Amino acid sequence: MSKTAFIGAGSMAEAIFSGMISRGGVDPSTIYTSNRTNTARLDELQEQYGVTGCQSLEKLLTGADIVVLTVKPKDVLTVLSAARPYITEEMMVISVAAGVDIASLEGIISKKVSIIRAMPNTSAAVGKSATAIAANKQTKEKNLADAIALFKAIGTVSLVEESQLDAVTGLSGSGPAYIYYLVEAMEKSAEAIGLDTDTAKQLIIQTLIGAAEMVNQSSKTAYQLRKEVTSPGGTTEAGLKVLAAHQVQEAFVNCIQEAAMQSKRMG
Ligand code: NAD
Repeated sequence: MSKTAFIGAGSMAEAIFSGMISRGGVDPSTIYTSNRTNTARLDELQEQYGVTGCQSLEKLLTGADIVVLTVKPKDVLTVLSAARPYITEEMMVISVAAGVDIASLEGIISKKVSIIRAMPNTSAAVGKSATAIAANKQTKEKNLADAIALFKAIGTVSLVEESQLDAVTGLSGSGPAYIYYLVEAMEKSAEAIGLDTDTAKQLIIQTLIGAAEMVNQSSKTAYQLRKEVTSPGGTTEAGLKVLAAHQVQEAFVNCIQEAAMQSKRMG
């Protein structure tokens, strides 16, 4: 059984290992985690999931097969320098830190190690992340398969080139917030047209889930699906005309491009 060690026991670490345990069938006794100072957090996680909290990097990393860096981007390189003595060529290192490139990770590790850079999103907390991963040249096939299995426990996995991760960040990394923004607008309008909050919430959620399933399961494009529900002179057309007048689609395109560019600037 392989040992997985998480450096940084925050929300992303918890989302990943809880998914590994509940959906990936991973034995919690093979999962180890550490945190900077907060030992109460480690005790909590130990009690809730049966994972092992470690105070020392040596205990955390010795015998590990997969090391997952789940600290904030600003802390990654410092943490990795401290971890380096315990990292061996048999291990795979996975980083979820936004904007920290593979070359920087390789520079610190300076050993022939499989390195994976991943960009999950916050829906990982409910097992529905759209995660994209990129691998370094040394990555062994078995390690890549293990990384894909790990992220499949929290949603879907797309294999991309590292140069595409800024685009991924703009599209799906920040993506949940764009949808929340749309939901906010739907909630506000529901109130304005006389629906109570609870009724509106149920209608909005099911509309989003249903539309997502239609796009997922139908052989038709989103454009075709939209055209089919837009009868001339009907209600949908009346509503969509307002969105077109405000250039909402163009605004979304600009929004995603700007987020991707910001990711590049921050990297
Ligand atoms: P978080 O603040 O919840 O967790 C970070 C944890 O790291 C904290 O518990 C902190 O105590 C710990 N830590 C800091 N320094 C440490 C050290 N030296 N040794 C051990 N532990 C240390 O943050 P998060 O939201 O879980 O994000 C973690 C990483 O995931 C970030 O790099 C972020 O870019 C990436 N990420 C997060 C999301 C998301 O949806 N939350 C999405 C994509 C990528």
